[in-house]
This record gives sequence, structure tokens and C-alpha cells, in this order.
Amino acid sequence: MTDEITLRLEAERKRLREAAGLVQINHFRKPIERAFKAEERDRVTILFGGLTWKHEKLIQAVFQGTGYKCVMVPTPDVNAFQLGKEFGNNGQCNPTYFTVGNLVQYLQSLEEQGLSKQEIIDQYVFFTAGACGPCRFGMYEAEYRLALRNSGFEGFRVLLFQQSGGLSQSDAEAGLEMNLDFFLGILNALNCGDVMNEVAYALRPFEAHAGETDRVLDEGMDYLHEVFRKKQPWKLEEGMAKYLGGFSDTAEYVGKFVKQLKGDEYLPALEQCRDTFNNVEIDRLRVKPIVKITGEFWAQTTEGDGNFNMFNFLQKEGAQVLVEPIGTWIMYMIHQVIQKYKDMKGLEEGATLPPIWKIGTRAKIEFGFRQKVAKLKLAEAIFKGEYHKIVDALGGVAHHLTDQYELQRLGHPFYNSRAGGGEGHLEVAKNIYYTNKDLAHMVLSVKPFGCMPSTQSDGAQSAVVSNYKDMIYLPIETSGEGEINAHSRVQMALGEAKNKAKLEFQDALNKTGLTLERCQAYVAAHPELKRPMYKVPHTKGAIGTAANFVHHLADRMRTVN
Ligand code: SF4
Repeated sequence: MTDEITLRLEAERKRLREAAGLVQINHFRKPIERAFKAEERDRVTILFGGLTWKHEKLIQAVFQGTGYKCVMVPTPDVNAFQLGKEFGNNGQCNPTYFTVGNLVQYLQSLEEQGLSKQEIIDQYVFFTAGACGPCRFGMYEAEYRLALRNSGFEGFRVLLFQQSGGLSQSDAEAGLEMNLDFFLGILNALNCGDVMNEVAYALRPFEAHAGETDRVLDEGMDYLHEVFRKKQPWKLEEGMAKYLGGFSDTAEYVGKFVKQLKGDEYLPALEQCRDTFNNVEIDRLRVKPIVKITGEFWAQTTEGDGNFNMFNFLQKEGAQVLVEPIGTWIMYMIHQVIQKYKDMKGLEEGATLPPIWKIGTRAKIEFGFRQKVAKLKLAEAIFKGEYHKIVDALGGVAHHLTDQYELQRLGHPFYNSRAGGGEGHLEVAKNIYYTNKDLAHMVLSVKPFGCMPSTQSDGAQSAVVSNYKDMIYLPIETSGEGEINAHSRVQMALGEAKNKAKLEFQDALNKTGLTLERCQAYVAAHPELKRPMYKVPHTKGAIGTAANFVHHLADRMRTVN
């Protein structure tokens, strides 16, 4: 009888909901895509892109080293943006148009080279990051598929790795095995790419001979590419695997981590790159404003039309660019998961806290929670340690990763650190951090047109700027159009930053009683001071390279002849 009543109630509820238009009859279903199978590896090329060429070159080496054919798609340009608009949905954010259009553009170029559409669909796949979440990043996969269908490449395969999917996302049959070796390789590639990139940006404005940094960077990247390509993943010896039986998988997992932590595979190669960078002669007495780049992940990373070629423009205008490493984003993601666990403690759906006298059950729940957080904290510490090892191997020129807890503390009063999507509270926090710590004269935030999280943080930045009066902060909306306007706004803010850098340099000369000529003469007599790996300590209150150098020269002159 009860069942009968339940069924009738259910039927009536369904009828009423349908009558009220509350039932969506035709749900969207993700199209079933032809799988990329292991046996296709020899004839299918994996395409990927979206970062800087330095990151991509090393990622390509990781793919090639594990036996894949792999090609980097070129940096997106305005034409790619137009194609993204033509074939994608309306109302998307700027990076969606650029990246989606870029893939279509590349496939069209293959067609122009004589391949048929079917050959392209069969012989290529695209590899990209996927996510779910409040911003449009969660829609990228669907956008790729839509634009591919609209441009005549229906059936072209898009392979996703989930940002939050952990260190193993593949099954044995998959064409692309996303296992621990693969992820460690990619993380190493990203970290080395980050640090090589930052070192080059730190040296270029001061190089005595134009173009030398880029020449050395090219050589270093070619060399690292080979090191990454030739690297063989660590494996448990066959005899040992047999001996360990059911424990062999765990032992292999641990062994791979230990090998990674020992760091003896990449560090000698990085030290060799450090030594070649050290041959670039630099002049630290050039007064340059430091411009910290923040903003949306893709817009602050790409080196092309997607951010109006902003890094090149700033360098040509006489700035020292402080780029944002991808490592910060990885640390942010780990940090946010830890926060989520802490916030959700005891609030899991359907969970009820056992009564107080069930001490054992309560202790078990507490232990489970602490274990989850401890694992993530360990991941956080390992990642940071690995990154800093690379920074140190490359001479300590690049910055260490910014502490996420400090960023949260700085940003939270202005932007709720639990508000996800895009860069969340990071944009606001970095602005305060780099200004307060004397690390940048100016913060330039590149914010894509149509980006909801960036628009939100823009609102909060007005409050930040009114609280920190000396801050030079400029948000620029990046789009496929409007480059001249954006550059002119940057020039104006940069004028202020240049002034700040000049005053600070003059102040350093006044305080130390030195003149520029005296400094130059001292450097000429001590050629080690022209070497990039020579350590110049930071002086409190001095931001620029030149001002810090003058303070250091004064100290050195007092102690060394
Ligand atoms: S953060 Fe903004 S620009 Fe980036 S994917 Fe999300 S909505 Fe688009």
C-alpha cells in the first residue's frame, strides 16, 4: 500500500513539474568521442599549446621521451581570436576565443598543406587541461568541440587532463597514459620552464650586448629539451618486483618519488644552464622600473597577441618584467583544496557526528580528516621544495614561490579567499604583496575581456588602491582589439613607475655618497660584478636592481678593495 502511494505521488509530482516546465526533457549529453587507443601512438600526433614556448618545449620533450609524436601549436594571434569568435559561442571570454580559434587555425593550416579533413581527424588529437568550476574554464572542452564541429572537424579528439584529477588519470588501454611518470615529467617541465623564463626576463634588460640573453636561453632550452627527452622513468627491477609481489606497485610509486626528490636528473643540466647564463655580461646600473605582471592565468602567461604582446612592449619601453610562474597557480590549487577540507569538516552530506561517548568513532573521523590535510600539506611542501631546488640550481636569480598563506592573509580582507574561479583572491593579494615587499614599482594586471572573476577583483582593487596610496596599479582589459589604446595606458603608468625608480636610485646615491661614475669605475675594476649569478642582497626600501646594487657597492667598498 505504501509503495502504491509513493508511486502515485511520484507520478503526480512528475506531471505537475512537466506542466510547470520544470523538467528538461532533452538533457545535454557529452558526445561520445572515439577513444585514442594505445595502438595508435605511432601514427597519431598529439597537439598542445597555450603556455610560453619555454614551457611547451619541455612538455614536448616529455611526450617525445615517452614515445609520443607531439607538436606545439603556435602562440595564438589575432587571426586565431577571430576564428574563435566565428566558430565558437557568443559571449565567451577572451582566452576561450584565442585558444579555441588557435586550434582551428592550426588544423586549417594542415589542410592547406594538403591533408584532408578526415586525415587530420584520424592523425591528430589535441591535449589540454580541463576543469569544472565557476568560471568559463569549465566550458573550454565544450567550446573546443563546438568550434571543431562548426569548422568542419567534427570527430576531432580532445584529450583532457583534469586539474583536480590527481597524479594518475589513465587506464591501460588509453593512447595517452596519464600516470605518475607522465605527471612528474610535466611538473618538472613546468617548473624548469618557469624558472628559465624568469631568469631570462631578469637578465634581458641589463645585458651589455643586445640579444645575448635570448641566444643563451635558446641554447639552454635546446639542451634541456634533450635532457627531458632522454630521461627514462625509474622502474623497479624485475627481480625486486617479483620478490615484493603485491607491494611492488606501492614500492615503485615510492621509488619514483624518492628519485624525484633526490633531484639528480635535472639539477646538473640546470647548473650547466646557469653557467652559460653567467657568461652574459650585464650592467646592473641601468635604472629600470620593475613591473610585476598579474591577472588572469592565460593572459598573464601567453607571449603574443593574447595580452597585446605586453612583455615585449614593456621591455622595449625600458621596464624589467617580473613574470608570474605557473608554479604559483599549482600552489594555489593545492591551497584551495586544503581550505575546502578545513571549511567542510563535519559538514559532509549525510554525515552525522557520532554521540560524544563514541570516542573511538569520533577519533577515527578526526584522524581521517587530519590524514587528508596532512597529505596535501606534504604535497605542498614537496612541490615548493622541488621548485626552489630548480631556482637555486639556476643561480637563485628567480624568485621563490610566494607563500599562499600570506597571500590569503593579504587578499582576504578585500576578496573572499573562498570565492573560486579564475585567480580568485590572488590578483588582489599579489598587488599588495609585490608593492609592500618592495618587489615591484608597478603592478600591471592583464584581465581578459569577458572574464567574470577578473571583473570582480577589479572592483575590489579600487578599495586596495585607496588603502595603499603609493601603489602604482594598472588593470588592462585584453582583447583581440585595442592594442594601441592599451599600450598608451601602460606608457602613462610606466612613466610614473620610471620616475619612482629614478628617485629611488638617486636616493641610493645620496645615502651612500656615491656617484654613478664612481660605481661604474668600481664595476669596471671588478668584473665579477657584471656576472648575472653574482648575488646582490636586497636592501630594505629599495625596489629596483640599480638602487639595490648601489647600496651593495657601498657596503662592498667599505669591506673589499
Ligand atoms: S578566469 Fe576568466 S578569462 Fe580565464 S577562463 Fe575563467 S572566465 Fe575565462
